[in-house]
Amino acid sequence: MKQPQRVLNIFLAVVVSCFSQCALGQTSKPNIVVLATGGTIAGAAATGAQASYTSGKVTIDAMLDAVPGIRDLATLKGEQIANVGSQDMSFEIMLKLAKRINELLATNDVDGVVVTHGTDTLEESAFFLNLTVKSDKPVVMVGSMRPSTAISADGPLNLYDAVAVAGDPNAKGRGVLVVMNDWIQGAHSLTKTSTTAVQTFMSPLRGLVGISSYGKNDFYNNPSWKHTTSSEFDISDVTQLPRVDIIFADEDMSPDLIDCSVRNGAKGIVIAGVGNGNMNKASVDAAARAVKQGVVVVRSSRVPTGTVGRNVEVKDDELGFVASDELNPQKSRILLSLALLKSHTPEQIQQMFATY
Ligand code: ASP
Repeated sequence: MKQPQRVLNIFLAVVVSCFSQCALGQTSKPNIVVLATGGTIAGAAATGAQASYTSGKVTIDAMLDAVPGIRDLATLKGEQIANVGSQDMSFEIMLKLAKRINELLATNDVDGVVVTHGTDTLEESAFFLNLTVKSDKPVVMVGSMRPSTAISADGPLNLYDAVAVAGDPNAKGRGVLVVMNDWIQGAHSLTKTSTTAVQTFMSPLRGLVGISSYGKNDFYNNPSWKHTTSSEFDISDVTQLPRVDIIFADEDMSPDLIDCSVRNGAKGIVIAGVGNGNMNKASVDAAARAVKQGVVVVRSSRVPTGTVGRNVEVKDDELGFVASDELNPQKSRILLSLALLKSHTPEQIQQMFATY
């Protein structure tokens, strides 16, 4: 065979093989965008064996380059939204993040999004996105407990699993998911339970959504609360959220904390109550005063599991309070802030706490 003919034959063979592989789906990897916000997963320390470190030091490209095989799972693009420890997370950054996710997922080019985030307030941002993302494509949040420079850093495998979940069609329609230490959990129900352990996130009332093991996923549950495409909250034109304060109850709780919060412009107050959302008599009176001034008061609990029910030991109907149901104080604050964009009526807001 003449040389030009041989070159042509090889070229045609390559083209045919490429087309047939595409048709069989063998080369079609999902397109995933990784949005980075900082946290310990992007943290760095001077040595691998020290407890002190700084969050939000490593860029998203460096984080992706540190995970062997991650680019075999998906076609990845990284974007830096912020680079903060999540103790500095704010509604300003969350709004930017939610709007960017909605923009990306509205296109046909993006199949899913991964968000890297510090673990301290990850549950709050996850819940915020659960209520404000307008797509059923997977949105998966991920963090780590050890900085990227630590011995046995947990970030790389967590990120690998998060990308595998975001690219999995079975993850669709389950709301915002959090993947850490092999566990897939739902934004509504998970909470941080340990200040330092890698298995820090738990969903005490609802359990796991599934497992991700070295990129292989198994789904057990569908979160049953409303989220994403069935949520009524639309932040596309929102630039600010109303101030909602959380006030922690204890023995000898000072009622003037509630008065102070109202004086300083809070539109809503969440009580991290004792037991079933309780507080002492003087604080109940202060909360009732707040309600009379148009502030919405939600009773949640400082107890890590269980629900807060209406009219159990506090006369909610009479005093105009809202009971948080399954939401802990920090997630109650997120829902109440969004709810206040739509209503100031305790009955309507109570309905939202029964729905989301
Ligand atoms: N303070 C860190 C943060 O939330 C802790 C972590 O990411 O684990 O950003």
